[in-house]
Parts: sequence; structure tokens; C-alpha cells
Amino acid sequence: MLIPSPLEVIKFPLFKEKKINVYVKRDDLIHAEISGNKWRKLKYNLIEAKAQHKNTILTFGGAYSNHISATGAVGKIFGFKTIGIIRGEETLPLNPTLLQAKKDGMKLLYVSRADYRKKNTAEFIEKLKDALGDFYIIPEGGGNKLGVLGCNDIVNEIDIDFNYILTDCGTGATLAGICDVLKETQKAIGIPVLKGGEFIKDEVKLLLGDTYSRIESQYSLIKDYHFGGYAKYKPKLIEFMQDFYTQTNIKTDPIYTGKLFYALVDLVKKDYFKVGSTIIVVHTGGLQGVEGFENRHGFSIFR
Ligand SMILES: *Cc1c(COP(=O)(O)O)cnc(C)c1O
Repeated sequence: MLIPSPLEVIKFPLFKEKKINVYVKRDDLIHAEISGNKWRKLKYNLIEAKAQHKNTILTFGGAYSNHISATGAVGKIFGFKTIGIIRGEETLPLNPTLLQAKKDGMKLLYVSRADYRKKNTAEFIEKLKDALGDFYIIPEGGGNKLGVLGCNDIVNEIDIDFNYILTDCGTGATLAGICDVLKETQKAIGIPVLKGGEFIKDEVKLLLGDTYSRIESQYSLIKDYHFGGYAKYKPKLIEFMQDFYTQTNIKTDPIYTGKLFYALVDLVKKDYFKVGSTIIVVHTGGLQGVEGFENRHGFSIFR
């Protein structure tokens, strides 16, 4: 595993023209199966599981989930048994995400969408304990308080001064962890990858508790880059990802980071950032999901 993740300058003609310095925090390089921000969210949960002498980790996710993939891989590396509660029916052959999780030793249990919605109730969890024995539970996506703590490290590892830091948002846990440790002069921008991302504010507020009022004015959500919703895309997103890869040699994924980098370039074009600004973009990972996306849609993004 590559920790601390590298910080690299991006050479992109537009950024030079606009006199903006852009660096990428390459959390995508942490590990091939452990999507960057998922490692951040798992780390302190694993330490806590060890402290509680639990040797099994149970978590939840959809069939293409970066979090499921990451949990399977950390289980193998750090010697935990892992159980993934997967939303919906089993589809065979297994998609690349679930196949890899299974190879990593994860036990996969499928539950109906209706049951999946009850996954956080005491009753549902008791039933699981009766059937499976004791386990340490990590919520879907890994976004609990320990997950937020791990995301503090993204900023703490950065050893240069910067004005803005950009991340993509699913639940907002990563954004919360970033905001938590910003200096007063720094701003965070969250790019929701799903429609109706306003709820992310409530999530950040809930996760940060008393800290929230201190950082409230230091972050914003820019909700114009969801491309129709979660896992939805438009041809111009794919074209952008291909072009960005050709120019920078950085691969992105269509669910999360493609939308993030698209937003970055678009905002620079629109002069959102002051001349001379230094911007950090967090490449949160997600590349394990590209193959599954390509199989579902019948085309390949990167040849
Ligand atoms: C899960 C994920 C996110 C979303 O993170 P949140 O903390 O839920 O906002 C962003 N990028 C990638 C690549 C992810 O896998």
C-alpha cells in the first residue's frame, strides 16, 4: 500500500493559461482494489476492530461497490474474515467487483432491496448475529466517525500551502473529514456525483458535530456535475475522461472521479478560481469499478 499517497502537479495547458496551480492527491495509487478514500475510511475502523478483538468484519454495499471491494481486500491483507451484505439478487457470472471480493475471501450474502433498507435496524443486525456469530460492523461506504477521522489524513499528508481542495461526494463523509482539518484561509469544494446533493450538508453537519459551525463558511457544494444522477453518464463525460487521460496520463472512473475532474476543468474555464490559486484535487480512486461499468454498457473507456 502506498501511504502517504503521492502529491503530483498536473500539467494541463488550460491551467497554465489561467495561471492556476493544480495538484492531485493520488489516493487512487494507494492500492488497486482499495479505492483511495475507502482506505481512509477503513483504517481506524480496522484498528478499532482489532482493539475489540473482533476477527470478522461485516459491511454492506451494492453489487459494484468500491467499499465492498476495499473491505474484501483489507480483510485479506490484515487477516480479518469479511462478510458483505449485498443489495439485490445474486447475478451469475459474478461481476468483476464481486468476483474479486470473493477471491479475497469475502463471504457474500444477498438480501432483497426491501430487507436492505432495514439494514441499520437492531432487529436486522440481531438476526445476522444469530446466523453468523459476532462481528465488527462498518456502515455502507465506511462513513462513520472513525471513517471521517481517517479522511483527516488526506489533508494532513499534504505538505504544501493551498487555497482550495476539491473532492467528489457520495455521502459527504470524505468531505467532512477534509473540512475538519482545514486552515482558516483554505476552502473545500464538494462535487456531488448524485442528484439532489443538498442532503450532503446534513451529513457533514451530523458527522462533524460541534466542529461544524467553525467550518461551515469554508466549504461549498457545487451541484451541477452529476450528469443525470448516481452512476448516470453522458457521452461528453466519457469523452472528457478519455481526453484527460491522453493529456495527463491520469485515469478516472465514470461514477465518481470523472465527474470531479470534469468539474475542476469546467470551473477553471469559468474563472471560478482567482488567478494564482493553488488547488488540490483528491483523486479518491474508484478505478476498480471501470471494468464493471464497461461490461454493463458494452464499450470500453480506456483502450
Ligand atoms: C465512495 C467513493 C466516494 C464518495 O465518498 P463519500 O465519503 O461517501 O462522499 C468518492 N469517490 C470514490 C472513488 C468512492 O469510491
